[in-house]
This record gives sequence, structure tokens and C-alpha cells, in this order.
Amino acid sequence: MLIIDSEACIGCGLCEDNCPFDAIHVENGKAVVNDSCTLCGTCVDHCEVEALSIERDEESIDLSDWSDIWVYAEYRHGKIAQVTNELLGVGRELAAQRGVKLAAVLLCDKAGDAPGQLIAAGADIVYTVEDPALADFTDDAYGNALEDLARKHKPEVILAGATAIGRSFIPRVATTLGTGLTADCTSLTIGEDGHLHQTRPAFGGNIMATIMCPKHRPQMATVRPMVMKANTPDPDRRGEVIAETIAPQRLQSRTRVVRSVLAEGEQLNLGEADVVVSGGRGLDTPEGFKLVEELASLLDGAVGASRAAVDSGWIGYPHQVGQTGKTVASKLYVACGISGAIQHVIGMKSSETIVAINRDAKAPIFDVADYGVVGDLFEILPRVIAKLKERRS
Ligand SMILES: Cc1cc2nc3c(=O)[nH]c(=O)nc-3n(C[C@H](O)[C@H](O)[C@H](O)COP(=O)(O)OP(=O)(O)OC[C@H]3O[C@@H](n4cnc5c(N)ncnc54)[C@H](O)[C@@H]3O)c2cc1C
Ligand code: SF4
Ligand code: SF4
Repeated sequence: MLIIDSEACIGCGLCEDNCPFDAIHVENGKAVVNDSCTLCGTCVDHCEVEALSIERDEESIDLSDWSDIWVYAEYRHGKIAQVTNELLGVGRELAAQRGVKLAAVLLCDKAGDAPGQLIAAGADIVYTVEDPALADFTDDAYGNALEDLARKHKPEVILAGATAIGRSFIPRVATTLGTGLTADCTSLTIGEDGHLHQTRPAFGGNIMATIMCPKHRPQMATVRPMVMKANTPDPDRRGEVIAETIAPQRLQSRTRVVRSVLAEGEQLNLGEADVVVSGGRGLDTPEGFKLVEELASLLDGAVGASRAAVDSGWIGYPHQVGQTGKTVASKLYVACGISGAIQHVIGMKSSETIVAINRDAKAPIFDVADYGVVGDLFEILPRVIAKLKERRS
């Protein structure tokens, strides 16, 4: 809370002038705070007579009580999401560095053979909660279940996919556990200090920031699909499956799922395509995109796009590659008329072979390209397409 030392306050009004939330006023010569105060601290910095201070209820926790690395296992329609295997891949490294176990948490109505698959993908322990109330995903039931398990077993780290589901309920879990969460991490390591170092793009992707959560547990992070590498499944791996139950009232949801339908983006499967041909502003018009679509179809690939192309309305958002779109790690990525802004490159740089076509020899896309073609794409693409058709016939 904001503490006002009335003896020291001289009623100068500097706090009132500088409060961004209209939360402090001078009344009868003394500062008085109201309920809008967010404890931002601006007034404390401006008070020249040090009449203001902030007292925070910081519960200090014993970090040594918290152990093990957890991965939330996303499991829909009887299938474990690929991002879960990728998180188990990085989770294994983190667990080895910390000398602790790697656990997967499976929330569902019927687990089937999913626990065995999670162990094969790297988990030492699988905590399962099987309950009809978990048949459909809802924020509150899934959030309460994960929160209750975390309070009981005290993991030091919880990782989840930055998918529609992960993004929906993981922030809720972090809030109810009173800890921090770093979204969309691109790298996770254990530092020499023993904390989880969570690296992600910041300031519009112009810098990479490493974020830590040194005073609270668990340390929570989400990672997008296709960013981390999954281990090859080992069916001979052995692990422990622990069945848990959650109090029924904690699984009651305010949401009733009427019907689930796949969005266009989910059908598109851009992230799993072996070949992606992407177009950018250099295509000039929606008609320009026809060339990209034709090349993608000849290569049995998917069509990607830069944000500039999506914002121009030439193609739908599910095709966007980059920081605010999809991450792809295709065998072949062809960038046509894309400059190579960092926000785009973040989403495709893990591709095995990158080919760039751009008329500007200095375009940054050539810094990440394995093969670069400098020239007008309206001349080059038709020739490549004709050559491929000739070979096919
Ligand atoms: C917070 C934030 C998030 C963002 N997220 C994303 C994201 O997820 N994905 C993304 O892509 N961008 C994202 N951006 C936008 C990004 O910064 C760039 O603006 C965008 O990627 C540019 O798209 P572009 O390369 O198609 O267009 P431009 O930068 O305009 O480049 C067009 C290129 O086409 C070339 N060209 C033009 N005509 C021809 C021709 N006839 N033949 C050959 N080459 C030609 C030009 O030389 C140029 O290099 C984000 C930006 C911010 C701030
Ligand atoms: S800035 Fe300090 S001294 Fe001035 S009115 Fe606010 S609390 Fe009082
Ligand atoms: S702490 Fe921030 S919100 Fe609260 S009174 Fe001071 S300036 Fe206003």
C-alpha cells in the first residue's frame, strides 16, 4: 500500500500532478490517496520531502521447496500436440542441468496411451487427471487443476505451448500462483544462478531480452510450436504414471462448450509443412500472390506471407510467418519479395534451406538465405515455375 507520512507532507501537489491514475490529491494541505492507486511508484519518485513510500506484501518463499521441471501436455482429440514433445525435449536438458526430474501433466477425460507416449518423449513422471469434466478445454477447470497440482507438488518450472490453449489458461495459473510468466520464449536455459533464463524478443523484436523470476516459484514460460527440438521417441524409456484427482467443485466451469470447429489456421498446418513458399510486399497485388501459390503447389508446399502482405489484405492471417504469426521450420523456405525484417526472420530462420528472391541486393533477407537470387520476382518466378512444369511433364 501507499504510505503517506502526513507529518512530512508539505502539500506541494507534485504527487497529484504526476500521478498517471488520478489516484492522489491534496486535501486540506495533505496528500490523500484513493482506490485507483496501482502502486506504480511515480508519486514516490516525485515527492521531494520523502513523504511517500510503498509497502508491498512480498511473501518470501523458500526456493528449495520447489523442484522438478513440468511440461503441460496439450492433448486434444486423442493426440498429443507436437509442441508438447518439443517442450519435453528442452525440458530434458533443463532437468539434467538442475539434477531433477522431468514431469508431464496430462489433463483429460481419457488418457489412453498418452502417458506412455509422454514417457517415450522424455518424461520421467506423468501426472494424470482423468475426469469427464475435462473432456472439453475450459480456462477455469484446466487452470484450477494445474494450479492445485502445482501447489501440491511444487515444481520449480512449468512450461507450456504458446498455443491457443496455452495462451488462454497459463496466464491464469501464473496469476493464481502469484508468480511470473514469460510468453513466447525462443530459448530456455538454466543460468549459473540456478534460475531459469527465459529469452524472448522484446521491443518489437529489435532486441532479445532474458527474463528471470528469481523470487517466486514456479518459473513459468510458454514457447511457440516449432521453436524447440523434440527428442526422438524412445519406446523403451521407463517412467512413473501418477493418477491424481481434483476436487469436483474445482472442475466446475462457467463455460459450456457447445461445439468445437477447426479454424482455417489449424487446417493449414503451415508449421508442419516441409516446403513453405512465402510472399511479401514485393508481390505488389493479390494477383502477384498467384505466382507464390502456383510455385507452392508445384513443390507440394504451403503458402506463407509476411505481415505486410497480410496487412494489405492479399492473404489471410493464418498464413503469416513471424513474431506475430506462425513459426516454421521447413526443409525449404522460399521468400519472394520479402525484405527480411527481424520480426519475419524470427519465424523462419530455423528452416533448413532458405532461398530468397529480391531485387535489392542489400535486403537483409540475404543475410539468412542459403541461396539468394537478385532480380525481379515477376521475371524469375514464371521462369522457375515453367522449369518445374517442364521437369514434371
Ligand atoms: C511488433 C511487430 C510484430 C511484427 N510481426 C511480424 C510478423 O509476424 N511477420 C512479418 O512478416 N512481419 C512482422 N512485422 C512487420 C515487419 O517489421 C516488416 O514490416 C514486414 O515483415 C515487412 O514485410 P515485407 O518484407 O513483405 O515488406 P517490405 O519490408 O516492404 O519488403 C518488400 C521487399 O520486396 C522487395 N521487392 C519489391 N518489389 C520486388 C520485385 N518486383 N521483385 C523482387 N523483390 C521485390 C523489396 O526490395 C523489399 O525488400 C512486425 C512488426 C512489429 C513492429
Ligand atoms: S509530493 Fe509529497 S509533499 Fe507534495 S503533496 Fe505529495 S506527498 Fe505531500
Ligand atoms: S503510486 Fe502511482 S497510482 Fe498510486 S498515487 Fe502514486 S502515482 Fe498514483
